Amino acid sequence: MRGSLDDTICAVATPVGEGGVGIVRLSGPDVLRIAGVVVRLRSGRLLGAAATHSLLLADVVPPASMTIHEMDSQASPMRFLDEALVVYMKGPRSFTGEDVVEIQSHGGGLILSLICQACVEAGARLAEPGEFTKRAFLNGRVDLSQAEAVLDTVRARSAASLHVAQRQLRGALAREVESIRTALLGLLAHVEAGIDFVEEDISFVTGEELRRTIQDAILMIRRLSRSFRMGKVLREGARVVILGRPNVGKSSLLNQLLREDRAIVTATPGTTRDVIEESIDLEGVRIHLVDTAGLRETEDPVELEGIRRTKLAQQEADLALVVLDGSQALTDEDRQVMDAVRERPRIIVVNKGDLSPVVRVEELASHSLICPVSAATGAGLDRLRTELRGQLMSGGGDAAEAVIVTNVRHQAALQRAAQAANQALESLGQGAAVELIADDLRATAEALGEITGTITTDEILERVFAEFCIGK
Ligand code: GDP
Ligand code: ZN
Repeated sequence: MRGSLDDTICAVATPVGEGGVGIVRLSGPDVLRIAGVVVRLRSGRLLGAAATHSLLLADVVPPASMTIHEMDSQASPMRFLDEALVVYMKGPRSFTGEDVVEIQSHGGGLILSLICQACVEAGARLAEPGEFTKRAFLNGRVDLSQAEAVLDTVRARSAASLHVAQRQLRGALAREVESIRTALLGLLAHVEAGIDFVEEDISFVTGEELRRTIQDAILMIRRLSRSFRMGKVLREGARVVILGRPNVGKSSLLNQLLREDRAIVTATPGTTRDVIEESIDLEGVRIHLVDTAGLRETEDPVELEGIRRTKLAQQEADLALVVLDGSQALTDEDRQVMDAVRERPRIIVVNKGDLSPVVRVEELASHSLICPVSAATGAGLDRLRTELRGQLMSGGGDAAEAVIVTNVRHQAALQRAAQAANQALESLGQGAAVELIADDLRATAEALGEITGTITTDEILERVFAEFCIGK
């Protein structure tokens, strides 16, 4: 990513398309001068002389040097691009930490691009993707995990993922990671001091203190790392596959679940032998339900294709709902289906509870979670929903309060941190030289530092901000 903080950058900050209002954002040392060229306050004052952080009515005017294409040569030159509300935010009290001007014009594509063009004509440079947020990071307004939460916030598709993004944006993850890192750095300082004085045989920390602090760190790192699976569910939703032999009531169950919770988007219809996908929203958690053709052995080529897809859907699933017909004795086919998911998160759904029961719960005793339902009457569905949500959200503790890791980059760094910390613990146990233990502690702290950006490389920054679009 090119560009230094000396440039003043500009970009359209609102989405493409028509809107009531559109915003062109400027940030950098030169904003007041540039705004002086492009913006005329109705009050007649200069923007820099007016109050910071207040909305001011203004005309946006094209700089004299600006040529506007496609203009009718007969018409008199365009004197105004639009009327707008303009706000000057004096740094460091701004999103980027620099002087910022936002021009809020009418939200048309042409207007906004002409205003941007006018700013460039007056000396601004078009911003790179994510450059505003990158500047906020470089100027110390946010740490790297908060910068990433800006993107998560914009992209959130469920209330739950928005909640997690908002907590991260407010620094919850950063605080937790920093507290682990600080403890390790404190320990490292002692260990290193011990190394310097090793000739005089002065030890600054006991082996026991060392071991306990490292163990605590590992526990905290692991807890964060475990929350990742749940974080993924919150961000992307969960895939739940409905399995069972024909006629046990898979489609009926799907329809019952959809009746009350059908999500507004996505419906991929297919034939009866196809995998059919629908989404529901369970208290802010998006769940993609996949109805399948069953795991039957067959020779029929069309059905084979259905089964192939079923197996695929099952492999990709976060959880399986195995549906049984409770009004009939279990068949080998039922057992095969249950066996196929024995090692995976699953709920056994005993359907047709409105008919006289034949399947006994003891037969299913090896399966921890059994939900009796009737897809016909809707009985038991509430409990099924609760269990479903509970299973998918397990491992993260209380979702509202726990810090949840949603970002792949963070998860990778946590795993490296845990590995290095374990290595330190192992070396300690083997009575290795303090220098070696210090190296591992340093590696742990560095991996953690990558999450918040206390340790960054150009490569990390490039990767993080490349995901952003222009204007953020
Ligand atoms: P699938 O092949 O597993 O998708 O099963 P369907 O959903 O197509 O249902 C097969 C048959 O069982 C249909 O005639 C349904 O009406 C019936 N059925 C499904 N669920 C129930 C239930 O809870 N109670 C009763 N009595 N019948 C059900
Ligand atoms: Zn079906």
